[in-house]
Amino acid sequence: MNQPQTGELQALDRAHHLHPFTDFKALGEEGSRIITHAEGIYIYDSEGQRILDGMAGLWCVNLGYGRQELVDAATEQMRQLPYYNNFFKTTHEPAVRLAEKLCQLAPSDINRVFFTGSGSEANDTVLRMVRRYWAIKGRPRKRVVIARENAYHGSTIAGMSLGGMAPMHAQGGPCVPGIEHIRQPYWFGEGRDQSPTAFGQECAAALEAKILELGEDNVAAFIAEPVQGAGGAIIPPDSYWPAIKAVLARHDILLVVDEVICGFGRLGEWFGSQHYALQPDLMPIAKGLSSGYLPIGGVLVGDRVAEALIEEGGEFFHGFTYSGHPTCAAVALRNLELMEREGVIQHVREDVGPYLAKRWSELAEHPIVGEARSLGLIGSLELVADKANGERFDKSLAAGNLCRDLCFQHGLVIRSVGDTMIVSPPLVMTREQIDELVALARQALDDTARHLG
Ligand code: PLP
Repeated sequence: MNQPQTGELQALDRAHHLHPFTDFKALGEEGSRIITHAEGIYIYDSEGQRILDGMAGLWCVNLGYGRQELVDAATEQMRQLPYYNNFFKTTHEPAVRLAEKLCQLAPSDINRVFFTGSGSEANDTVLRMVRRYWAIKGRPRKRVVIARENAYHGSTIAGMSLGGMAPMHAQGGPCVPGIEHIRQPYWFGEGRDQSPTAFGQECAAALEAKILELGEDNVAAFIAEPVQGAGGAIIPPDSYWPAIKAVLARHDILLVVDEVICGFGRLGEWFGSQHYALQPDLMPIAKGLSSGYLPIGGVLVGDRVAEALIEEGGEFFHGFTYSGHPTCAAVALRNLELMEREGVIQHVREDVGPYLAKRWSELAEHPIVGEARSLGLIGSLELVADKANGERFDKSLAAGNLCRDLCFQHGLVIRSVGDTMIVSPPLVMTREQIDELVALARQALDDTARHLG
């Protein structure tokens, strides 16, 4: 393959390209890694290095790279009808068939979908829909959405406001009014003075306390991810979701489950909601919906909300040029068909998920790892300076970023959030590839320990 000139591209990148979530100046000094092509679970850079993509792109390339079937779906659809919208009483086959397929896969009382171009747009749609729902129901005061600290729900103003990322709020505020945050069920980070069970219940009690503080008549919805992804692959204690469900059963507010990461097989079910037996009113989706091959998202809408919007709502003044884009929809539909045909959900639930859990947990023995956790094909490691008491490294050492960079050097993409290292690899991984991932992570941990020691 004809490799581009790394230096030339880096110079152009530095001169003209502002990257997402990036310190522009620091990147300019360092220079970007140029990714040239990819196959299976591996990406390749312009220096010819092969790198195991332990993040499936950005939690999205669930079927892995190089899937000709998805290229064909896009090509066929682009030839036939590259674009048309779904406004003004028109639609097209890919959007309709994808909507039907998604509703077949979703929990039983979800039978409608509103398409968007991304997960952030999906969460903007959520905010508008929950407020619209209560207004239609004659309860316009029910407007507050309760979310969680350290949650990520996107980068638009509504997504950023629903999210609980303090650095984002500091740069992007003031946030959309009427959004409140409660504590996250992050046992390793915040709850180790209690049992996980007690901590999970305490975090759920925080939801009830917040509802009572605000007054149920003012609360529209609670939004959360089944497993908090970008926050640090935070798998809640087993007691958490049952206790949250009990709180929700006592109060008349909507449940929004953000499935942008957990959807499409990540936890070994089509949706994370199914893993935790949740019955969401709304489910924002994106990423794995198309395995990231083309941008598409949406909101799966439960019957309660859909019926109000349809029967009583009149026109909903909301939508995007690319809502239900036919080429993106055709690729997403083919992606879901391939996942079904290849038994990808079962592969994660019964084979590689349990296998990753076994191999990943071995890393907990490493001298700088305080905890290793995983569920399905999402996992994380907590880096610590003192294994005995879980004390963190001094922030100035930026241990997580160091470990991430060393992973890259060893040919592995792992993401760092503070000193939490995250993996979320393509779902089509084999056991041998998991062995490779764990071996590379171990080498990078050894190097990190050497650098910091
Ligand atoms: N919700 C969750 C849980 C996410 O992880 C993300 C992105 O990482 C989003 C929403 C936003 O999705 P997008 O980047 O497609 O706008």
